Amino acid sequence: MIEIDNLTKTYGDTQAVDAVTMTVETGSITVIVGTSGSGKTTLLRMINRLEEPTSGEVRINGKPTHAEKPHLLRRRIGYAIQGHGLFPHHTVARNIAAVPRLLGWKKPKIRARVDELLTLFSMDPAAFRDRYPAELSGGQQQRVGVARALASRPELLLMDEPFGALDPIIRARAQDDLRRIQQHLGSTIMLVTHDMEEAIRLGDKVAVMDGGKLVQYAAPAEIIAKPATDFVGDMVGDVDRPLRLLSLIPLSELIEDGPAEGEAMPADASLREALAACLWTGRTAVPVTREGVHVGRVTFEAIRNRAELHA
Ligand code: ADP
Ligand code: MG
Repeated sequence: MIEIDNLTKTYGDTQAVDAVTMTVETGSITVIVGTSGSGKTTLLRMINRLEEPTSGEVRINGKPTHAEKPHLLRRRIGYAIQGHGLFPHHTVARNIAAVPRLLGWKKPKIRARVDELLTLFSMDPAAFRDRYPAELSGGQQQRVGVARALASRPELLLMDEPFGALDPIIRARAQDDLRRIQQHLGSTIMLVTHDMEEAIRLGDKVAVMDGGKLVQYAAPAEIIAKPATDFVGDMVGDVDRPLRLLSLIPLSELIEDGPAEGEAMPADASLREALAACLWTGRTAVPVTREGVHVGRVTFEAIRNRAELHA
C-alpha cells in the first residue's frame, strides 16, 4: 500500500502540488490524469524522490520514503517515461537488465528475466535480445522501456505519459499489453496521463488533478457517473465516443454465465443502458433475459473491455 499524505510542492509562487492525500492499493493500477501543468509529474517524482516535497510525506507499506536513501528507494521503484529513455549503445537485453545488474543478480537469473519479459511483451527473445534500440519500431522501443522498468519486479512502477509518443492504434495495443502484464505480474502501477480515455481504460482508480489539487479520486465508473467538479465533467465529456459506440451494441453480444442480482434487462437492450444500470445501482453485472427467460448476465468489466476494443 502506498500512502500519499498531504504532499505539497511549492516552486516560488507556484503550488505545483497542493496537499494531495491518497492511498494506492497494492496490485492495482492508479491513473493520475489532468491537463498540462496540473502537477502530475511533480506528484509522481516526489514518490521516488526525484523531487523532494515541500511538506507532507509518502509511505510505502507503512515506511516513510524520506527514511531511505533516494538511490536505494529508486531501486525498488520502477520509472518509465515518455520516449522510453533507452540507452542507445546497449542491446535490448542489456537495457532491460540495467537494474538487475545494479542489484548484483547472477547472469543466468538476469538472462532468464530478460527472456521472460520479452516473451511477455510478445517479442521473441532470440530475435530481439541482441538488437539495439535504433533497430526497433517505436512501439517495440516503448515495450522495452516498460520491460526495463519492470525487470527487477519493483514494488511500485511509476509511469509518466508512457504512451504519449505512440500513435492512437499502437497506443491502444500498448495499453492492453500493460493491463495484461500488470495482471500477470501483480504489479502496483501509478501512471500519469493527460488523456481521460486512457485513464478510464487503464485505471482501477483514477485520480484527477487540477491546479495542483486532487479534485476526485475514484473508480472509473464513479468518475463517469458522478464527476466531482465541472472540470472533471468536461474531461469525461471528451470520452463520450466509446460510450456512444456502446449504445449501438446489444447485450446479446456479451452474455455470459454467472451470478447477477437485481432488475434484469432484455438481450436486445444496449450495452450503454446496461452500463448505466450498473453505475446507477452500483452492480458489477446485470441479469439478462430473452422473452422473459433468464439467459445469463453481462458484467461491467465485459462492457468496459468492449468499449476499449472500439475506442
Ligand atoms: P504536469 O505534469 O501535470 O504537466 P508539472 O508537475 O510538470 O505538471 O508542473 C506543475 C507546475 O509546476 C507547473 O506550473 C510547472 O510550470 C511548475 N513546475 C514544475 N517543475 C518546476 C520546476 N522545476 N521549477 C519551477 N516550476 C516548476
Ligand atoms: Mg508532466
